[in-house]
Amino acid sequence: MNPFDYERAADAPAAVALVARRSGASFLAGGTNLVDHMRLGIASPDLLVDVSRLPFDAIERLPDGGLRIGAAVRNSDLAADPLVRQRYPVLAAALLAGASPQLRNLATTAGNLLQRTRCAYFQDTTTPCNKRSPGSGCSAVDGNNRNHAILGASDSCVAVHPSDLAVALTALDARVRVLGPGGERTIPLTSFHRLPGETPERDTVLEHGELITAVDVPPLAMAARSAYRKVRDRASYAFALVSVAAALSVKDGTVVDARVALGGVAHKPWRAVEAEFTLRGAPATEDTFRAAADAELGGARPLPDNAFKVPMARNAIVAVLRSLAGHEPRTEARTDPGAEPGTEGGAR
Ligand SMILES: Cc1cc2nc3c(=O)[nH]c(=O)nc-3n(C[C@H](O)[C@H](O)[C@H](O)COP(=O)(O)OP(=O)(O)OC[C@H]3O[C@@H](n4cnc5c(N)ncnc54)[C@H](O)[C@@H]3O)c2cc1C
Ligand code: SF4
Repeated sequence: MNPFDYERAADAPAAVALVARRSGASFLAGGTNLVDHMRLGIASPDLLVDVSRLPFDAIERLPDGGLRIGAAVRNSDLAADPLVRQRYPVLAAALLAGASPQLRNLATTAGNLLQRTRCAYFQDTTTPCNKRSPGSGCSAVDGNNRNHAILGASDSCVAVHPSDLAVALTALDARVRVLGPGGERTIPLTSFHRLPGETPERDTVLEHGELITAVDVPPLAMAARSAYRKVRDRASYAFALVSVAAALSVKDGTVVDARVALGGVAHKPWRAVEAEFTLRGAPATEDTFRAAADAELGGARPLPDNAFKVPMARNAIVAVLRSLAGHEPRTEARTDPGAEPGTEGGAR
């Protein structure tokens, strides 16, 4: 690990100023991703500005009925929050499907959104990787690409975003609040993460020195009936091969509204707009759910090792929607032995 300076910021403007004026500086929150990257030689910041103790550790109810989640709220605290569990069960379920209880006790909301891909070549500094070393090539395109993207990839990078929380927040139309050298701005989560294009080294639209202060989740009545399903190689402590976050509103057998987002399939959490369009106004039946999944996955371009993700995503979308529509008992097996009772499907 390279030598680096360490500062604990007194407040948010001080943190922003410290990072903005040094190109090699990074914010440090729980450190569960950044410190690993420093050990692996993927990141070598010359200054770490610790923002984990800034007063962004509250979960507040907003006047419009929404929720403001502080950037430093730990994943375990967010998953356990009574309001989150009651009104946005998809959030609690996504968090509890990720990492381990120990990691969730350290990992923060902002750090989770900004964690970097788990592509094995990205983490191996002996191999070419455009994301780690721009212009060096992509080892995954002709290498082992089983875990990689089926949607939105480019010739430069076929990696997927690993966050579970980001998928749930994307389905809920959350907005990221940011403080930068030029002031504050708010970024919809749907446009916060980027597709790789020619510049896969940039995961998000954040500029250097911009600090996430909070994430706002709008009031969404149907989110009380929401769920997260994560399909992975092991029942716990594994990243998603495919995941689905969804919320469904059904009246008199017809879908009034729907939110669907996918994880494990693209460089960013994938909002399934085609699926949502197909669902709205249609009968809440298995045929509709299949048509919605097919509409979304029609644009999938699987790689040699990951064609299985297309039927896997289709089946996961249909299963979640079927469960939310009440076509089957909501007592499916949990995906994470560490999860709390009933959180596999999220909504109760
Ligand atoms: C073994 C293992 C298994 C895991 N499994 C899963 C899983 O299944 N699902 C899942 O979603 N995650 C998983 N994770 C990832 C884990 O959730 C992330 O490491 C964690 O959420 C990162 O949060 P952090 O606070 O530790 O971030 P840090 O490591 O401190 O920071 C991560 C990045 O965010 C930046 N940053 C932090 N705070 C701010 C801020 N306020 N403003 C701007 N930039 C900021 C940092 O500069 C850094 O670039 C796993 C991790 C490990 C080690
Ligand atoms: S898929 Fe992206 S992260 Fe993985 S090797 Fe290629 S460029 Fe690097």
